[in-house]
Amino acid sequence: MQIAILSGKGGAGKTLVAVNLVNLINLSTYIDCDVEEPNGKLYFSSEYNKKDINVLVPKINYKKCTHCNKCVDFCRYNALIDFLGKVKLLPSLCHSCGGCKLVCEFDAITEVKEPIGYIYQGDYKYHQIYGGELKIGKESGIEIISQLISKADKEKINIIDCPPGNGCSVMESIEQADYCILVSEPTIFGLENLKLVHELTTLYNKNIGLIINKANDYNNIIEDFAKTKDISIIGYIPFDKELAKLNSNQQLVSDNNKFKPYFIKIIEQIKQEVDL
Ligand code: SF4
Ligand code: SF4
Repeated sequence: MQIAILSGKGGAGKTLVAVNLVNLINLSTYIDCDVEEPNGKLYFSSEYNKKDINVLVPKINYKKCTHCNKCVDFCRYNALIDFLGKVKLLPSLCHSCGGCKLVCEFDAITEVKEPIGYIYQGDYKYHQIYGGELKIGKESGIEIISQLISKADKEKINIIDCPPGNGCSVMESIEQADYCILVSEPTIFGLENLKLVHELTTLYNKNIGLIINKANDYNNIIEDFAKTKDISIIGYIPFDKELAKLNSNQQLVSDNNKFKPYFIKIIEQIKQEVDL
């Protein structure tokens, strides 16, 4: 079982929800796919093992290259350019699709490994914790996310902490999800971002639930949208200074008796939607 936690923007509370669900769901696994800002591990005291992740990028053999520029024309990411009559690679733009090697008729392209970051794994109580980090300057963390998702144990409940937004890396994170939880806050900005992730989950035909974080007197901004789109609201997390302080100190608020009931209630609601 994979449960993906999404929000249209950073700071909406997706990691707060993800780590606290993991804390309360027996034997569950936490997978942090926010590889540009992997903060989830800070909530779990653990030793982490790291493994480097590489992708394949083209290398031009100039002795064989005839400057036909077929590879330059082919690359839709503009990662190959004709620079003063020589084909050059802009590695940060390369998506490792391998297409340029295929179109080169002169066997002038080989592929070499390029490190893009790493994944890590640790244990916290009875939970497995996974995450990864994309190297600064690298464009795409898709390969890291794909490797992380492959760690999901089908026999267990895997909580996927998705990257913010609605781009390719989010798509990769939710593709195999059985259930998606959208996290939003009751502001106009929150609503606009919610609309984007809702559109994405609809496109992928996902079963979804919604959590309103920083709930306050303006919840109707989000509730009205949920009603029109027939989205079930599976929980509220209050706007509370004590909660915010604990969370910003990377403490699991579900260990606190005042806040634990909110997460228990969310889990009960999830159970009504999927077979936990
Ligand atoms: S397709 Fe091959 S031969 Fe043509 S420019 Fe690219 S590397 Fe050179
Ligand atoms: S591998 Fe793909 S993305 Fe990278 S340079 Fe070649 S065609 Fe472009």
